Amino acid sequence: MSAAEYQQHDQIAVIALNQAPLNSLGYELRASIDSLLKRALEDPMIQAIVMTSTHDHFCAGADIREFGLPAASNEPTLRTLIENFEASTKPVIAAIRGICAGGGLELAMAAHYRIAQSNTEFAFPEVKLGLIPGAGGTQKLPRAIGVEPAMKFIIGGNFIKGSELANSNLIDCIIDEDFFEKVLQFATQLIADHKPLKRLRDIKITNTPLSDALQKFLRPYYENALQYPAPVAAIDSVKDAMMEMYEVGVQNERSRFIALSNMPSSRALRHAFFAPRACQKIPGIDASTPIKKINSVGIIGAGTMGTGIAINFLNSHIDTVILDQSQATLEASLTKINQQYASKVKKSALTSSQVEGFLSHLKTSTDYADLRDVDLVIEAAYEDLGLKKSIFRELDHITRKDTILATNTSTLDINVIAACVSQPEMVVGLHFFSPANIMKLLEVVRTKTTADTVIATAFSLAKKIGKLPVLSGVCDGFIGNRMLEHYGRMARILVEEGALPWQVDKALEDWGMGMGPFRVFDLVGNDVAWAVRKRRYIEKPTVRYGKVADEICLLGRFGQKTHKGWYHYEVGSREPIPDAEVEEIIVAYREQHGISPRNFSSEDIVKRCIFALINEGARILEEGIALRASDIDVVYLTGYGFPRFRGGPMKYADELGLYQVIQELNALYQETGDSFWKPAKILEEYAAAGKTLN
Ligand code: NAD
Repeated sequence: MSAAEYQQHDQIAVIALNQAPLNSLGYELRASIDSLLKRALEDPMIQAIVMTSTHDHFCAGADIREFGLPAASNEPTLRTLIENFEASTKPVIAAIRGICAGGGLELAMAAHYRIAQSNTEFAFPEVKLGLIPGAGGTQKLPRAIGVEPAMKFIIGGNFIKGSELANSNLIDCIIDEDFFEKVLQFATQLIADHKPLKRLRDIKITNTPLSDALQKFLRPYYENALQYPAPVAAIDSVKDAMMEMYEVGVQNERSRFIALSNMPSSRALRHAFFAPRACQKIPGIDASTPIKKINSVGIIGAGTMGTGIAINFLNSHIDTVILDQSQATLEASLTKINQQYASKVKKSALTSSQVEGFLSHLKTSTDYADLRDVDLVIEAAYEDLGLKKSIFRELDHITRKDTILATNTSTLDINVIAACVSQPEMVVGLHFFSPANIMKLLEVVRTKTTADTVIATAFSLAKKIGKLPVLSGVCDGFIGNRMLEHYGRMARILVEEGALPWQVDKALEDWGMGMGPFRVFDLVGNDVAWAVRKRRYIEKPTVRYGKVADEICLLGRFGQKTHKGWYHYEVGSREPIPDAEVEEIIVAYREQHGISPRNFSSEDIVKRCIFALINEGARILEEGIALRASDIDVVYLTGYGFPRFRGGPMKYADELGLYQVIQELNALYQETGDSFWKPAKILEEYAAAGKTLN
């Protein structure tokens, strides 16, 4: 099978890209297209050339497997291929269906004419990967669709349908039916009419100032340029299209592309883009692993999590029974679900009849017998091992043998829970994040007995309900919360030793975290972490947890829900206001415990908190709780507001260099005497071997 196929229809040569599914422009395909182009040019019979695909998608762009490898610059490169098409003395028509993105769009723009379908999907996704189009895309798109739309298109990185681009120089003709036949007719007519060789690069654009509206739209991209430089590079390149000769614009674009591709933020964004794909691959589980059909779900516990979890299934038209011991709680849960949907209808995000459709799948119950026939049960009752064990024993009697039994526990040992049922292989952890109907992350927790088919089903179901599943082994807190415990611990210790909560939050937010730890504590509820700490004081009496937080809780300052926590909140507002009372509590605590406060710089604060994530993440990797470092990064990027331009804690460690990480960890150990800071073994091993975690 050749990478591209050649057919001849009278005077027309057809070059059809033939590397399903996406025709990624690797060396083999580029070389094949180039040689077929030569063949068509050399054949005196041929009067026009159609470039298309043998299957559904035109071309999704560069082959990512070649990124950074010599193969990417093997001739013909994409740029050479584009030049060869542009130099063609015979008209070239790109006939585009399905996806046409990145380098694929640049290739299409080298043709003299373009025919697409209404639903063809065009995009330049490069900015999302910390790059810009690097083969003339930023110079030709403004010539094709106008400067302002091109800027928005390139900066947005999203797919735009052919129908929306129809009245532009990008698309000469939309054909939805009898596509290929009509493409050939178009080419035949072109030959008959001796139509000119139109090249996008030859279009002149007048240099006009950007509109006020566009400048306003662009402002945030300039403000964030330090962390995310690609959008501004794209803006500058599109401006070149107005102000410079085409050749200069292309050269500048290339220099910017190369500079960006060597920046840590660009490497981090590429990692953040590909890591979620990698985490769907689980050794031993593949397409042959049977997946169970989940048509009905039972949810035990109609509290915060149970209610949110239920909405996911309703949205996917899966029959859902919410069960609670209390009828009043069930009613409150129903009210919350109705309110959620009502607000969507109000914002026109859903219609009333859609909501009716979703709600037709919902039942509530106080009777476990109503779970007799469900395909999956998710237990989301109180975080109490005895209670969960008794619920699973009950489920063992009631549910079918092939029902998957899941728990949403955050911290409890699921191996112990699984041991309560006669088929422990059917038990799995499904750890949703709050608010469960919004947060995309789902930790799928594999016990030592969970069957492969149960894991495969959980992953497939997660995708169906719009979640991003990541596999975790059993440990207290799984991947995300186990790391968070130490991050939070360090934040509280910083406050005990001299920092203030708002100083810690600001340092971490300036560094890029979505929300500082004390704001998160107030959002989640300080009572939640307090309950965990009380358990830890007994389980791990030698670990320092930052007991100043207990003083805050003893005053009932549970966070936003009580309008007071680490901050003060006006009624009806989520805006955190630094509170003198909190400062007094902290100062009194330090005096009482003989702690003389010291100054912490923002750098000190970030170091302690982020290195806590790195060291615990490394231990999680070492213990095999996470399959790969990038899975840990996915958890932090998706569930904990870790900045994408840093790629996740493990990627950040790689960028710093593991040797440097070890030095810093040892320094923290020397400074604090806390054995937590001793570097994880895997860090030392990898640093010694010159390896990276990712
Ligand atoms: P919650 O207190 O809001 O709700 C628990 C519900 O379980 C209550 O409505 C209670 O009536 C019901 N319940 C208790 N015993 C029951 C029984 N025997 N049968 C039926 N219903 C029973 O708690 P939550 O915050 O929704 O947490 C539920 C679970 O999810 C816990 O295991 C928790 O650790 C976990 N979790 C919570 C969060 C979070 O942010 N809240 C996040 C992830 C996981």
